[in-house]
Amino acid sequence: MTKYIFTTGGVVSSVGKGIVSASLGMLLEARGLRIAMMKMDPYINVDPGTMNPYEHGEVFVTDDGAETDLDLGHYERFTSAKLSQKSNATTGAVYNTVIQKERRGEFLGKTVQVIPHITDEIKARIRSLTAEEEPVDVAIIEIGGTVGDIESLPFLEALRQYRLDVGPENCCCVHVTLVPFIDASGELKTKPTQHSVRALRDIGLQPDIIVCRTGKHSLAKEQRQKIALFCNVTNDAIINAEDISPLYAIPLNFKRQALDDIALRILGLGAPESDLAEWTAMVDRLQAADATAHIAAVGKYVGHDDAYKSINEAFVHAGIHNDCKVRLTWVDSEKLEQGADISKALEKFDGILVGPGFGSRGIEGKIAAAQYARENKVPYFGICLGMQIAVIELARHKAGLKGAASTEFVPETPHPVISLLSEQRGVKDMGGTMRLGQYRCELREGTRARAAYGADVIYERHRHRYEFNNEYLDALTAAGMVVSGVHPKGDHDLVEIIELKDHPWFCAGQFHPEFKSKPLRPQPLFRDFVGAALRYREKRD
Ligand code: GLN
Repeated sequence: MTKYIFTTGGVVSSVGKGIVSASLGMLLEARGLRIAMMKMDPYINVDPGTMNPYEHGEVFVTDDGAETDLDLGHYERFTSAKLSQKSNATTGAVYNTVIQKERRGEFLGKTVQVIPHITDEIKARIRSLTAEEEPVDVAIIEIGGTVGDIESLPFLEALRQYRLDVGPENCCCVHVTLVPFIDASGELKTKPTQHSVRALRDIGLQPDIIVCRTGKHSLAKEQRQKIALFCNVTNDAIINAEDISPLYAIPLNFKRQALDDIALRILGLGAPESDLAEWTAMVDRLQAADATAHIAAVGKYVGHDDAYKSINEAFVHAGIHNDCKVRLTWVDSEKLEQGADISKALEKFDGILVGPGFGSRGIEGKIAAAQYARENKVPYFGICLGMQIAVIELARHKAGLKGAASTEFVPETPHPVISLLSEQRGVKDMGGTMRLGQYRCELREGTRARAAYGADVIYERHRHRYEFNNEYLDALTAAGMVVSGVHPKGDHDLVEIIELKDHPWFCAGQFHPEFKSKPLRPQPLFRDFVGAALRYREKRD
């Protein structure tokens, strides 16, 4: 019998529901329970793959190629829940399914409505998450957005119904709210939380646990009691979630407040006590690190960190392994163009990252950065577009292929060293049509990549439309490029990883290694890149 935890948010968006859900998942897993996780997003896009990552945050990709909300990245980094196409559902996806059924005549004779048809579809998706062959003890369902939003109403109504369908004793509602601190009066204000809970109760959902985001402050006993009283929740279930750094210490804060015990009590579940020694040691090691590796992330200017969430986190994990902090500094690639002093911009860094990207803006600056890294033997790490950039740079400056480019930026290039994947020809739709998800990659003997992974076959996740053009394989190999890993496609080997000979550390992959990195299991390429950056720093100093 599966039990359910529903996480909702109140007062403001971005209140940290994803981290709360992931932390709770981690704590329950540590108690030997099998968990599943899911995020429901109220927007109309069928998935976030068509949204601007600079506004909405990164698109996280699962093994089976779902383009999902970045909160799923937190779920994977904190837990071992298996995420898939089923793990993220948007209003758009739900309506899409219902409308297709209507067109097929599955509701023939009926008026199709939000209740029951849309809510039924939402419930079916929750049910399908737990109807696997592999049983789940607790399914955690997070609802995006904020209580009170028009667009989240069908999801909350579906939860209200679902709770009755499976029995209220099998459900636990966790509400995450902001408790603001008002400087003028010098106190935390509980009123917005009361209003938010009232809005939730109007819909028919009573929270069992309230997680209060209190910023730099902590709830006093009286404030806890006040929230408990006004919101009809037990005192101990008012959880204090002040800002905590590092991120991975957050579940430990919840553990100190017995959040897992409270959830288990509400769900009527017994579970053995957990041993968080390994996680705690990881957090301690992260905090104790005193060295710093300075990495330049060369790319388009980004307003906020969420656009590259998994990359930032993968560097944290790599830092833990190398006992250092990794400071990632975004260097605007457009500023490296047209006669810019590249070495002045990059000489203070211990490593250079060129990350994923689309479109032609800033490309020449990225190529200049790759050239600088190659020529000055600065560790270089390319991810997806960053691999394509490394290939173009080498083609132009070492293989004598003047004007080499990707057909993504220069359709008429004389040397299309990067060109459209064959299966992409004729693809017109933008949503969900890239080469997505996990593919097998065979690593070649004697390469840095194989040494990093310690394996000859690996699986990494992808999200791209262009690939290395094998017509240029000989020219680039002669110029010093080593193909360290390929995906055999039948008609050709798709180049998945390249590296350079005669360079301390220059590796680039067509895939997104950041999606599989976890704090207790750093991704091998990130780990070794940071290691190389530290060695480079020592040698230089
Ligand atoms: N724009 C490139 C492609 O589609 C790279 C994509 C990426 O970096 N994710 O192939």
